[in-house]
Amino acid sequence: MTNSTDSSTPISKNKVVTFDYVLSDDSGKELERSESPMVYLHGANNLLRGLEEALTGHVEGDDVSVTLPPERAYGLRRDDAMQRVPIKHLLTKAKKYLPGQIVSVNTKDGRKEALVVKVGRFNVDLDMNHPFSGKTLTFDVTINEVRDPTPEEVSHGHAHGPGGHHH
Ligand code: ZN
Repeated sequence: MTNSTDSSTPISKNKVVTFDYVLSDDSGKELERSESPMVYLHGANNLLRGLEEALTGHVEGDDVSVTLPPERAYGLRRDDAMQRVPIKHLLTKAKKYLPGQIVSVNTKDGRKEALVVKVGRFNVDLDMNHPFSGKTLTFDVTINEVRDPTPEEVSHGHAHGPGGHHH
């Protein structure tokens, strides 16, 4: 049988992949799980590289367990990672920011998540250590769907539709 929903399509560059996941640390404690399926464009740097590599070649219905050391996940914790950043530079837009909140910010190394430690009138003090830095992470992934991208998704570098990017 040949049709466009062939469930044996392996994950490769520019496939759009839908998956669910549970993320745990190395003691087995659950850190987070997908509330609804995640959708991403494979090979476009939308996922941690180690996770993308592990999913390559898998097909719809596969369960994949991937364990990444901090160096391949969110990095090691650094003590000198406090930064004062103008609120207008935050990529996460909110009327009000609160200590303990996770926000996205542009850095010289690209977009990063950071923990808000202190909020001033024009600036916030951020702990640039990712909340999962220093952790060995295990992703238990279930692949729900693998499909071809639309030309628009390829040109944008991300997946569209439910679970993907919205404009
Ligand atoms: Zn787009």
